[in-house]
Amino acid sequence: MIVVIGSSNTDMVIKCNHLPVPGETILGGNFFMNAGGKGANQAVAAARLNGDVTFIAKVGNDVFGAQAIELFNKEKINTEYIFIDDKNPSGVALITVDANGENCIAVAQGANGNLSAHDLKTLTHVLEKAEIILVQLETPVATIEYAASIAVQKNIQFILNPAPACKLQDELLSKVSVITPNEKEAEMLTGIAIKDINDAKQAAKTLSAKGIKTVIITLGEDGALLYNNNQFNLIAANKVTAVDTTAAGDIFNGALAVALSEKKPFEEAVRFANIAAAISVTRLGAQASAPYRNEI
Ligand code: ADP
Repeated sequence: MIVVIGSSNTDMVIKCNHLPVPGETILGGNFFMNAGGKGANQAVAAARLNGDVTFIAKVGNDVFGAQAIELFNKEKINTEYIFIDDKNPSGVALITVDANGENCIAVAQGANGNLSAHDLKTLTHVLEKAEIILVQLETPVATIEYAASIAVQKNIQFILNPAPACKLQDELLSKVSVITPNEKEAEMLTGIAIKDINDAKQAAKTLSAKGIKTVIITLGEDGALLYNNNQFNLIAANKVTAVDTTAAGDIFNGALAVALSEKKPFEEAVRFANIAAAISVTRLGAQASAPYRNEI
């Protein structure tokens, strides 16, 4: 079982000719809604690749939360442990996009920000049964720390996708088995700006020195750098024509968790994740772009 702990959001997007300036009202945009949130994106990606996924999250007692859970059920994700928050609304992102693709985004994390370490404690028995725990940084750090402590106690593989970029305590990092930053996130964690592969190697070594067994730095169209057992392995991306790279990292992480749950060696698991993410960038959307197993 893969346990994903993380955020669920509803993205509400209006495409208009130009972005409104303060005080301005624009008529004539097109509206659409997408399910998002890094946790949800990764859970969906893993489930579509035949992962046995349990998603732990918190949504509001509202139409967005109900709709999200319905979608997860359709994706065959176990939603039994999604908390309903009576005090806070479901997480939403309000996005305006102009004719050039420039955007303006406001996020109200709502119930996501209220998924507490205490909530997770009530699910200790679920966490303990996991083969893999996969987390990101859109839920409170104390919650992630609790999950990490269970992973260490029970020797469960703990994958941290440190997104969005954020500084973290060494104590938490020392409990992580696999970390998967992109270039910006690796820079935030190590202070090393990644301009070339040597910088990436340096950053990987720095993270490894904090006690993380396996470091995987994703490098966009250049693929991913794998570092474990003192060895580097640059695994090339699959060549595709990118249409929309939204959630590429999320699809990569969901796929990586599936491959590792199937006990694939790291090199093979990263190749699998590269393929899934490459397919996703050829399609529009976040969860919508996640491939199914037969497409790999
Ligand atoms: P994020 O989406 O978190 O910023 P990256 O940009 O590093 O992360 O992308 C994550 C993974 O998605 C990469 O390691 C690669 O496997 C895949 N990917 C991203 N962009 C492309 C691309 N243009 N062509 C092929 N694969 C890509």
